Amino acid sequence: MDKNTKDSIFVSRGFLWGPSPEIYRGVSGFYDFGPMGKLVKNNLENETRKVFMKYGFFEVECPILMPEIVWKASGHLERFTDTMVKCKKCKSSFKIEDAEKKCSSCGGELTKPEEYNLMVKTKVGTDKDMFLRPETATTTYLLFPRLFQFFRKTMPIKVFQIGKAYRNEISPRQGVIRLREFTQMESQIFINTDNEMDFPEFNRIKKEKVLLLPHKLKKPVKISLEGAIKKKYLKKPAFAWCIHITEEILKKTGVKGYRFRQHAPNEMAHYADDAWDVEVKINGDWVEICGVHDRTDYDLKRHSQFSKQKMNVNKEIPHVLEISFGLERTLYALLNDSLVMDGERNLMKLPENMAPFQIGIFPLLKDKKLESLANKVNEDLSRNFRTYHDISGSIGRRYRRQDEVGTPFCITIDHQSLEDKTVTIRERDSMKQERVKISELKVNLNEKFF
Ligand SMILES: [Zn+2]
Repeated sequence: MDKNTKDSIFVSRGFLWGPSPEIYRGVSGFYDFGPMGKLVKNNLENETRKVFMKYGFFEVECPILMPEIVWKASGHLERFTDTMVKCKKCKSSFKIEDAEKKCSSCGGELTKPEEYNLMVKTKVGTDKDMFLRPETATTTYLLFPRLFQFFRKTMPIKVFQIGKAYRNEISPRQGVIRLREFTQMESQIFINTDNEMDFPEFNRIKKEKVLLLPHKLKKPVKISLEGAIKKKYLKKPAFAWCIHITEEILKKTGVKGYRFRQHAPNEMAHYADDAWDVEVKINGDWVEICGVHDRTDYDLKRHSQFSKQKMNVNKEIPHVLEISFGLERTLYALLNDSLVMDGERNLMKLPENMAPFQIGIFPLLKDKKLESLANKVNEDLSRNFRTYHDISGSIGRRYRRQDEVGTPFCITIDHQSLEDKTVTIRERDSMKQERVKISELKVNLNEKFF
């Protein structure tokens, strides 16, 4: 791989490795998070979790494997398909959209197009067919009767789930943009139709402005949520509230340059009442990182029919409003946008809450006294901050390493520190340094971060 691409930095600095398993040449559509990638992933999950919980959502976790009947009910068994062709000679498969007249690897003749289900099938026990979930959402819907009891029969019910999902993509070729195993962060509001229109929480956020691209317009408009309802770009206050929560997650996680694009009526699932994608530009193309969907009563109605369980509330099957983030795409968009390579240095401008570490701590030289003081400073600060204590290599190299993983501040302990109990703090973006008393470090850093 070219040493000077962003992807090569993500590899060398331990963000993303793959395809996995690399030592066996890898299978496309599977990636490993290295130590830095895993820390950013944790931060992304936690910031999302915090926003959902602030708005009254509770988290659940369901199994990844589900029996066939679940996917019959959900419609995935029948409709979650792609069309593919195979090479008669070398047996390579291609998505119909990607296929040429002849096989692109050997020039062989291609078979007739066939439908291909995107779910991954496996067996449990000796003979029971199970499917790896293609989304977390369905597994959450199945909890509705339990949730309804748990929330003491009070509607609406707000829940979310963060977890893995699987799609048997035929030939994924876009790195972490199209994966066979990926992480979703999906929330649902189970709600009655009256409540969708008369939604008190909407009043608190209705003046907030968002960038919307309704399917009838050619250019996005910046408009208040209230204005968007008036203009009929958005139909329901409860749905507008979901758009607001989605935007708050994007802001909290530092994703920039996004837009909300509405699906055209022929682009939506047949049962959906409204659907918007959050899109960001990655290497010049708009890529969907999140969907906000009005799924009507489709899901609970189907699961009520297939399971023979009652799901009515006040003579009506509740509707589902859903926010669905693809974590890897969001994370990739964030890393790709944050990494600045200006020839002088590589700088990962991650926001403080997303960076793997908030503070790097270095003794200036290999010296017992400096190392012991650096140890003490690290022990103390690590109680309140995500710190990294690095003692190896030249000080310049240590700064560069932290710049590349996005650490906003680095503290250096030098000989002066032993005499007057001060250290230097270096700021990542400006490289400005200031001297601060060790006793005032915590207060000083708290002011910088919060
Ligand atoms: Zn071939």
